[in-house]
Amino acid sequence: MSFARRAVPGLVALAVGVGLVACDARSGQPSDRRALALGLDPSDRGEPVTASAGKPSGFLMGQLHMHSGRSGDSETPPEVAARWYADRGFDFVFFTDHNVVTDTPDLPGMLTLPGMELTQNLRTCTPPRGAPCLLHVTALFVDPGLGAVSFAQASSLDRGALYGRAVDLAHGWGALSMLNHPNFADAADLEVVLALAERGTFLLEVENRAVDSRNEGGAGRPSTEQLWDDALTRGARVFAVATDDAHHYDDAAAVRARGEIAYVGHRGWVMVRATRSPASIRRALEAGDFYATTGLVLDRVEWRGRRLGVRALGEQVTFEVVGTGGAVLHRAAGPQLEWDVPEEVRGYVRVRARDAAGRRALCQPVFLD
Ligand SMILES: [Zn+2]
Ligand SMILES: [Zn+2]
Repeated sequence: MSFARRAVPGLVALAVGVGLVACDARSGQPSDRRALALGLDPSDRGEPVTASAGKPSGFLMGQLHMHSGRSGDSETPPEVAARWYADRGFDFVFFTDHNVVTDTPDLPGMLTLPGMELTQNLRTCTPPRGAPCLLHVTALFVDPGLGAVSFAQASSLDRGALYGRAVDLAHGWGALSMLNHPNFADAADLEVVLALAERGTFLLEVENRAVDSRNEGGAGRPSTEQLWDDALTRGARVFAVATDDAHHYDDAAAVRARGEIAYVGHRGWVMVRATRSPASIRRALEAGDFYATTGLVLDRVEWRGRRLGVRALGEQVTFEVVGTGGAVLHRAAGPQLEWDVPEEVRGYVRVRARDAAGRRALCQPVFLD
């Protein structure tokens, strides 16, 4: 997600709109500086996680946000990044380079799919929040022939309008859109989530696992999970996604040796109930038939009538059923949750699970009304 660690020959398409933020490359250790500026501990190394179990049957392991050397802030060739994911058991990976579409031949057992991180980096926008406006939306299922894109000068600096033109662009291509890292540089808020949901964006990065995503919120901002609940409470049909936003692969150690933060993979992904074809994966995403995970694996996610059934493959798992406003309606110890949602519960319910190692899984909401 770091928006430009070095200049990108031929990618002037990054020059977006009014007051573009100059690439903060050329200056040594931009990623550390940025992390420090955001009050983060640069010693947080953001290592890959170990999944709590292997892949359960019926689910595909998928990555919806990762970068290759076709982004200015990654140096790994696309084929090498794809191989990195295939070696870790992924069934599909979307390339989401900044303002350029990337695709490679599929690997045995893993689809590589074309996406794009529609990246608008501006010095300012409205309302201002004391940080550059780093407004990023991912388009999934992009025509691989699209090449690079650029945004015209913005006629409005309103955050919602800037985001809106990006998702409209994605939808005009027939792609799905995803709102990325809403707390990174305080980029998006509830108003933006609701406005984009109205425009057809139903994927929200609740767990963008880059170390500077600030998913936990603070300083007056809600956590990304609370943001999700707030949107659901307002009736938006939005699904939670976990992603890596990886930029570094086999080069992670070298990046750290330079004193920079490495943005690595295998930290957040989705488990999708689909067969290994783009059409099936797309249908499952559209239906919300998937869950987000930071390593905790579920092998059963069921909803029958008003009965929830979830089973987790992990140690000392706890479940929470969450409803309107983010309120916890029910708690249970794992490995299995069975709960009949009381008749008086309205709105939505969703299930989250956590294991002893802190790994989490977020199931998608079910709307009761
Ligand atoms: Zn990114
Ligand atoms: Zn980003």
